Amino acid sequence: MADKWQQYLRQQAELGGGEIYLETAAGKRGSGEVVPRTVAAERLLNSLPRVPAVVAWQKGAPPIPGPGLTIDLPAADLLGDGLGTLDTLTAVAARIAACTLCGLSKGRKHTVPGEGNPSADLMLVGEGPGATEDETGRPFVGAAGELLTQILGSIGIPRESVFIANVVKCRPPQNRKPLPDESTACLPYLRRQVQLVRPKVILALGATAAESLLGARKSLGELRGAVHSYGGVPLVVTYHPAALLRNPNWKKPTWDDVRIARQLLDR
Ligand code: URA
Repeated sequence: MADKWQQYLRQQAELGGGEIYLETAAGKRGSGEVVPRTVAAERLLNSLPRVPAVVAWQKGAPPIPGPGLTIDLPAADLLGDGLGTLDTLTAVAARIAACTLCGLSKGRKHTVPGEGNPSADLMLVGEGPGATEDETGRPFVGAAGELLTQILGSIGIPRESVFIANVVKCRPPQNRKPLPDESTACLPYLRRQVQLVRPKVILALGATAAESLLGARKSLGELRGAVHSYGGVPLVVTYHPAALLRNPNWKKPTWDDVRIARQLLDR
């Protein structure tokens, strides 16, 4: 009987490859004997139809919605201030560091030009730096940034692979919303960044980013649920991570939005 049992275990181990286990009165324990997967088992496995694995984010993902607004970007040479001649993100960041176009420049410790993969497929746009960003010169490094990193992870996108920017590059006092003239003064930098990164998809985080990019006086609710076009780049609008920290009810709609963005990336 024991022999038959061992024979059975050997067969199972050969099919799967690996260690043989012995059942004893004291329970299951490894024999330490490792057997390779047999050629027959290998053939059997190779002949099975290959069904693509459904990854977690795909389950129940909403379909890609229809088109929304179309925004044409000015040609590079019409961006003003010679911005179109700046051919790298580093050169744009240097220009931002010297910028005094609006009052926000007076209160800043650091400019926060944006960071990430210079040829990212996905570009994220937030509102503007907060206290931690102002201290460090880096975007989305506070609590909202941690949540953002998790959201990206949930659709299988490492944070290092994207480019993260903001509408304004200097911190508004008391983290207030940027004023229209501040956003307008800063927008050419963002436009040049989009032209240089040439992402496949843009994700606008929150109402300020959505309104500034799309030039639309519409609510976030009205701007979600469509694929807009920003200089030919598909643009999806979702909630700002800081808003999600205040209202967890928005996590599910955000999850849907980012899954739409993910599907656009995979197209
Ligand atoms: N950090 C940023 O860089 N941008 C935001 O909009 C919020 C936090």
